[in-house]
Amino acid sequence: MVHLPSIPSRNGSDNCADPALVMSVDDLSASYNGAPALHSVSFDVYRGERVGIVGPNGAGKSTLFKAIVGLLPHHGSISIQGASCRQSHTMVGYVPQHEAIDWKFPATVWDVVMMGRARQIGYILPPRKRDRHAVRAALERVGLWGLRRRQIGELSGGQRRRVFVARALAQQASVLLLDEPFSGVDAQAETEIFDVLDVLREEGVAVLLATHNLAQAATHYDKLMMINGGRMLAFGPPQQVYTPANLATTFGDRIALWQDGDQYIMIADKPCHDHDDYQHAHSHARPF
Ligand code: ADP
Repeated sequence: MVHLPSIPSRNGSDNCADPALVMSVDDLSASYNGAPALHSVSFDVYRGERVGIVGPNGAGKSTLFKAIVGLLPHHGSISIQGASCRQSHTMVGYVPQHEAIDWKFPATVWDVVMMGRARQIGYILPPRKRDRHAVRAALERVGLWGLRRRQIGELSGGQRRRVFVARALAQQASVLLLDEPFSGVDAQAETEIFDVLDVLREEGVAVLLATHNLAQAATHYDKLMMINGGRMLAFGPPQQVYTPANLATTFGDRIALWQDGDQYIMIADKPCHDHDDYQHAHSHARPF
């Protein structure tokens, strides 16, 4: 069993006064059928921030997301723009892992994005003009307006991710949780997803994104959360989180970190233990 150092809880200052603060998670714990899976996680997310959640398989990344959106019994507090957890679940857009979605479900792109308006519409009333406008605007923002009549099962992997981002946009969520959106997509789709993330940033939407791509996380995210065994080991800018000690504690001996001044960090599967050998063997590798 891996024992991770505990993160000191925050100093209890009243962050709600900060207008840039979008989400505040405090002492969040969650369990599956009584078995603890997330232990006392606390962090703040600010407007437009992009936060990568990194950790090995089974670390608790999906569990964190499910707890935030209320899909799991949990303790602790989550507030979104000052509203308490119960009121704020609809202010969080959640895109589960690709495998967790039934792509054979007979729904069009338009239908899925309109689901993001369920709270505004209510469950009995038909969509109003403003709902249709919101769906159209969301689809245009992710570049899928032309595909609105397609069945979701007919879309490519990258397009499917963008549909769910559009659903969150139509929902007017302040925070978006994306569970491994890049798994199984090609480089082109990845670029398109990042383009959409840039749009979200411009609109002030904070994005938390679970990812296995540690190298990409170092350069494409404002902050990282390193998580393992359901505990948050580190949270902050990538340079602060990707320390050799944190990487070794979380990923064991498989990951090497190489820093060249303040400029470059390289993270890769570690082929050998000696740093000079490693540097020589990978001298062709592209710094980022
Ligand atoms: P990650 O997303 O980082 O791969 P998860 O959050 O899915 O990790 O899993 C965290 C822990 O919770 C793991 O030990 C996993 O086995 C357990 N777990 C996940 N889903 C369930 C479930 N539905 N029932 C019971 N345990 C689960």
